[in-house]
Amino acid sequence: MDKHKAQGTALGRSLKITMAYLLAGALWILFSDAAVERLVSDPVALSRLQTWKGWAFVLVTGAVLYLVLLRQLRRDREQILMREAQQEEILRLSQFQQGVINNANVWLNVLDSYGRVLIWNRAAERISGYTSDEVSGSDEIWQKLYPDPNYRDWVLSRAKSVLTGLEEVEGLETYIQTGDNGERLIAWNSRALKDSRGEVVGSIAIGMDITEQRAAETALMARERQLANLMDSLPGMAYRCLYDEHWTMKFVSSGCFELTGYRPVDLIDNRRVAWAELMDSGDASAVLRKVEEAIGSASAFSVEYRLRRESGELIWVWERGRGVEGDNGLVLEGIVLDITERKRLEQELSELATLDPLTGQFNRRETERILQEELVRAERYGRQLALLWVDLDHFKAVNDSWGHAIGDQVLRTVSLRLADSIRSVDTLGRFGGEEFLVVLPEMSVEEACETAERLRRRVVSEPVPVVAGQTLDMTVSIGVAVFPNHGQSAEELCGRADKAMYLAKNLGRNRVEVYAPAPAEDATSDRA
Ligand code: GH3
Ligand code: MG
Ligand code: MG
Repeated sequence: MDKHKAQGTALGRSLKITMAYLLAGALWILFSDAAVERLVSDPVALSRLQTWKGWAFVLVTGAVLYLVLLRQLRRDREQILMREAQQEEILRLSQFQQGVINNANVWLNVLDSYGRVLIWNRAAERISGYTSDEVSGSDEIWQKLYPDPNYRDWVLSRAKSVLTGLEEVEGLETYIQTGDNGERLIAWNSRALKDSRGEVVGSIAIGMDITEQRAAETALMARERQLANLMDSLPGMAYRCLYDEHWTMKFVSSGCFELTGYRPVDLIDNRRVAWAELMDSGDASAVLRKVEEAIGSASAFSVEYRLRRESGELIWVWERGRGVEGDNGLVLEGIVLDITERKRLEQELSELATLDPLTGQFNRRETERILQEELVRAERYGRQLALLWVDLDHFKAVNDSWGHAIGDQVLRTVSLRLADSIRSVDTLGRFGGEEFLVVLPEMSVEEACETAERLRRRVVSEPVPVVAGQTLDMTVSIGVAVFPNHGQSAEELCGRADKAMYLAKNLGRNRVEVYAPAPAEDATSDRA
């Protein structure tokens, strides 16, 4: 448009200048001749003047022409220079654009309205494996990228709806086949290109190669699923909680329900109950101390405590975890296992180790241990310590006439009566068979005899029920020995209490005897 206008004005101006020149020439010829002829009558002078006039005309018009041409030339020069500068600028811009297109690390292609490739940048070349020269100007690229006809039809239908301006594509993912027969996943953003009249002339598409990203996402999801499966099949409960006073749970595995009776949603963010509330108050401070210590030394903690289930039942749990840096500060991560059964077994084992299974009283080993302990104490504080050796009378006859089971029952009943008749500081232990040992700290010979007498009377005064309302009259014989009067060591004292018991047997049973040294023994020791 501007070019035409410029041409028009140039033509008009040239015409005007030419017309002015013709007019000036005609006027000059018409009027100058008449004026000169009127002034000069001499034909020779006239002819010379005519010649001079001709020269003057040529000079003046020549000068004017020179000035006009000079001006025009200058203008043309300026325009040429300007145009050159503009072209340089345009070249620079288009190179810049080309550079941007080519150096973009996203796939960028422009198609014409027939789906033929117009622009194919370097990233497109790199990702697709097809060069710009290979694909430019044709629509074969569709076949190359999408060899499967059904899939290609689907992609083409989407491309067509972009090319017809029906839709703009955002994040559309397609799998392409690359030049080296590989497969890549591309996410597309595409829209139609329109000319100044608003007509669609093609489309521009930007593609991001998301193959690796998707693979990583898929792998991550698979790992998370595996982890979740693993956690769900763990015995007990895996957790992540804030390091705060409530132990605010942020994640608990599904094992939570079996362990606590609460569902994960009940515990997360303390919705129904806080973990700290489930901990037995007697254990909580010890647990906290251990956790603090572990965090202080950046190591794992492992604690055992009682936990109240939703049903109110108390269970024992073992928890192992560690403090880790979370998004908003320190969090604890770990697992919690139900160890109630283990604790019960432990308890049973320790009872087995110290208690006699038949009577529930201390066993021989534990009784000996306690006796040793009490002896050390008595020695240190200069106190007395009495020992009673208790043996059931004619017990064999009970077994013989009532059977071993009834014998056991009698042993249990008698042992309970003995246990019931001593102080809490005293110790009753089954030494073996139907023999019991009673350890009485801080007791003199007289006090020990009184206690022994009380035990004997208790047994004899309460017949032992056996079967269907029948009872047995049981009696015991008891021997007494006292530290330090009758011996120094546990062994010595036991031997002497046993001896005293035999004396009681010999003297008719159902009686108490204090150790008395034999006359020969008396002369050598035990003057205390
Ligand atoms: P004595 O008056 O002289 O003590 O007579 P006794 O029958 O009590 O004494 P003896 O030592 O001859 O018998 C002890 C019996 O105790 C022998 C054994 O069968 C019985 N006995 C030992 N341990 C058990 C037990 O655990 N259960 C039962 N039922 N009987 C036991
Ligand atoms: Mg015996
Ligand atoms: Mg006996």
